[in-house]
Amino acid sequence: MVSAHRAGAFIFGAALANVFRGDGIIPRGDSTLLKQQFQLDDDHFHDHCGVFGVFAHSEAAKLCYLGLYALQHRGQEAAGICSSDGADLRVAKGMGLVQDIFDPKRLATLPGDSAIGHTRYSTAGDTTLTNAQPIVIDCSKGKIAIGHNGNLTNAAEWRRKLEHRGSIFQTTSDTEVIVHLIARSSARNLSSAIADALNQVEGAYSLVILTRDELYAIRDPRGFRPLCLGRLGDSYMVASETCAFDLLDATYIREVEPGEMLRISRAGLESFRFAPPKQHQYCIFEHVYFARPDSLVFNRSVHHSRENLGKLLARQYPVPADVVVPVPDSGVPAAIGYSLESGVPFRMGLIRNHYIGRTFIQPVQAIRDFGVKLKLNPVRGLLEGKRVVLVDDSIVRGTTSRKIVRLVREAGAKEVHVRISSPPTISPCYYGIDTPTHEELIASADSKFRPRLSEADAISLPSSSSNTSEADPSPQTVEEIRRFLEADSLGYLSIENLRNAVSDTERRFCTSCFTGVYPTPPVQLEVQHNAQHNSQHNAQSSSENAQEPQPTVTRES
Ligand code: SF4
Repeated sequence: MVSAHRAGAFIFGAALANVFRGDGIIPRGDSTLLKQQFQLDDDHFHDHCGVFGVFAHSEAAKLCYLGLYALQHRGQEAAGICSSDGADLRVAKGMGLVQDIFDPKRLATLPGDSAIGHTRYSTAGDTTLTNAQPIVIDCSKGKIAIGHNGNLTNAAEWRRKLEHRGSIFQTTSDTEVIVHLIARSSARNLSSAIADALNQVEGAYSLVILTRDELYAIRDPRGFRPLCLGRLGDSYMVASETCAFDLLDATYIREVEPGEMLRISRAGLESFRFAPPKQHQYCIFEHVYFARPDSLVFNRSVHHSRENLGKLLARQYPVPADVVVPVPDSGVPAAIGYSLESGVPFRMGLIRNHYIGRTFIQPVQAIRDFGVKLKLNPVRGLLEGKRVVLVDDSIVRGTTSRKIVRLVREAGAKEVHVRISSPPTISPCYYGIDTPTHEELIASADSKFRPRLSEADAISLPSSSSNTSEADPSPQTVEEIRRFLEADSLGYLSIENLRNAVSDTERRFCTSCFTGVYPTPPVQLEVQHNAQHNSQHNAQSSSENAQEPQPTVTRES
């Protein structure tokens, strides 16, 4: 059995090498350019990926292209599509935006009536074409393509183990761990091998997997990242967000449930439970910032949630003011909510330039806060002499927020009151979101940016009556951030109100980046954790004993 695994690993490695050497990959002259270009100042958490899949449609690759186009906000560094014509899989990937990578000629190289696609946001230093997805492999289970939204928290440990056993990795992506585990599984069929692989990994994954004649849609048992099922005529579709269905006139059916594997084939749609249920951990940041406001995510309207966040923020932190101004675009729905609740008029006092790309010529002579001025321009007539409530969704490092406060003040605002429609982000995310380290997060106890108050200043601060739980920040932390931002006042939404805004009465949402408390072991602790965890876990989920999950065959309408 071991030697068969080893032989499989070599064949698998060779097949991977073929795929990653360039088959189906679009070389773009601007990949070098991308590295040289000036990165715009953007102080937000970033979603890593969006996924899309379509089964049984004569224009599968084109629909996939359009689906990815609608999901572009979930990743702008790379994208790829893999299609099946029933006989073979073909893939095309490239760096950049979906519309720049694919043209009619390129889409014509992707024949067949089923396809999956992926858009990717890569972390710093990781902007490489080899990490673009879908990843395609040819293994003992046949040829399969995989697209992944999320992040595995025990990927590094598994990678070390698999390399020790002879697996040859071609990417630095955690997704490849799933691929190797599927390839190595001794389970009888692909759905069992996938279940076997997924029961050995921890963390966040919403997956689309394509074979010659099947499409799989899978969500991890905690359900960190969204994944939706839709229908267009007789064709099934899956997407990270429902905005992709809207563009295609497809009907949203339901979410893929946490711990559910959907297998779509000519026989219809089958639903499997591949793992024991776990406490759900829907990413609450999808409703704060990541998802498009016109999407349904976790069965809730994102726009509605964001308006609620703004309304609760207005109740929690009212202030006498003349105008409510959003930081566009992400602060708009919360600012509308704040305005509706407070009665203070909503005004678009900052205009965003939507046409800035990654390439521009920076003046030799320094212009103060140049990056943010490229992106946002204040409307002087709306701000001059006014007491402004400036609403944004979150503060990460604080550097951009400070520039925006300065911009509003330089446009003549008399007072600038910053209101944030989420609690302070104090800790990184390990579940598929690109976040800075503790040191870079201004609200973290380890922040290297935040000025600290003197003991005398701290003692004179009034204790806050608005904070409602132990996890909310101390008045001292908020005051230190306010000083850094140069704002007249600062108010963050409490964790309790964050949960209230999404009606989270059953504690189904993850709030780890606001609390520092994680539902899975954090990455830093995984080595020590895995020593005990894997010995127990592997005993339960050995490849040799993998049970085929029992499907429920359904036809959704
Ligand atoms: S840690 Fe924050 S960003 Fe990450 S899944 Fe949880 S709520 Fe979302």
